[in-house]
Amino acid sequence: MEKSLNGVHHITAMASDPQANYDFYTQILGMRFIKKTVNFDAPDVYHLYYADEVGTPGTVLTFFPFPDARRGKRGTGEITVVSFSVPSTSLNYWMERFANLGIDFDGQKKKFDYEFISLLDPDGMKIEIVADPNVDSIVGWYNGEVPPEYSIRKFFGTTFYLRNSNPTEELLSEIMGAKLVSSEGKIKRYSLGENTSQSFMDILEDAVSPRATGGAGTVHHIAWRTANDEEQLNWRKRILDAGYYPTEVVDRNYFHSIYFREPGGILFEIATDQPGFMVDESFENLGTDLKLPEWHEPKRKIIEQILIPLKTKSFIKQN
Ligand code: ZN
Repeated sequence: MEKSLNGVHHITAMASDPQANYDFYTQILGMRFIKKTVNFDAPDVYHLYYADEVGTPGTVLTFFPFPDARRGKRGTGEITVVSFSVPSTSLNYWMERFANLGIDFDGQKKKFDYEFISLLDPDGMKIEIVADPNVDSIVGWYNGEVPPEYSIRKFFGTTFYLRNSNPTEELLSEIMGAKLVSSEGKIKRYSLGENTSQSFMDILEDAVSPRATGGAGTVHHIAWRTANDEEQLNWRKRILDAGYYPTEVVDRNYFHSIYFREPGGILFEIATDQPGFMVDESFENLGTDLKLPEWHEPKRKIIEQILIPLKTKSFIKQN
């Protein structure tokens, strides 16, 4: 039985305009668009997936873009920052890139000995690009907009902004297997997962700020990795026994999921590594067609009419 969850599996956030979202994450940040599908629970909205070249768990950022969505309001009870790891010597490249593209950024700064820069996505979601020596050995996406030696490798971690962090820290450390690695000022840094699947959670407590309001530019939930269905059921039992209310297992086509709300207000998911994103598309075709799970397939015509068209680039064969 797994002693701890294996870091982040994916992070899902809300957006407004799907095209602006696609252009930013593929053209500016250089991630690979690996899946165009719909929100399985509300199939009139896209579910867009960006990741490394194959959608390795720990690299997958997904969005529900509601074209007319209002922006959320930052506050407690949410994840306020999504951080990505880039190779340790690549921050200069990124600063130059953003400057050339006319993208505002802040930095370079240092937190827990890691240099980083920060910027906002088109909906105002805060992103950090962190120089991370632990990812120097991971190979980057070779066919993206960013040269592979500089490209985003994986999630570095997230920042949890909480009214009262104690119950969340207890859940992370005593149930999920996270370790407190360091604290600096008002931030406590926890780590979950090993080696290349390690992710950090920076916990920032603020007892007076109002709660966040969901909307475009806010994180909807964070999913943690478990190896397979059997381990997932073990985790479900452990979480139930600890007094939380996990859902039954839900089939998300590319992984299987359970969900529960942690005591600070953030929606947690535990997702399996299998079966992965090539279950319905080949490596070259990842992200090419609108993919629907078989139970929504009969409604394809209606769904396609409702969704606004999204212009995406195809994989270019290298010689
Ligand atoms: Zn999810």
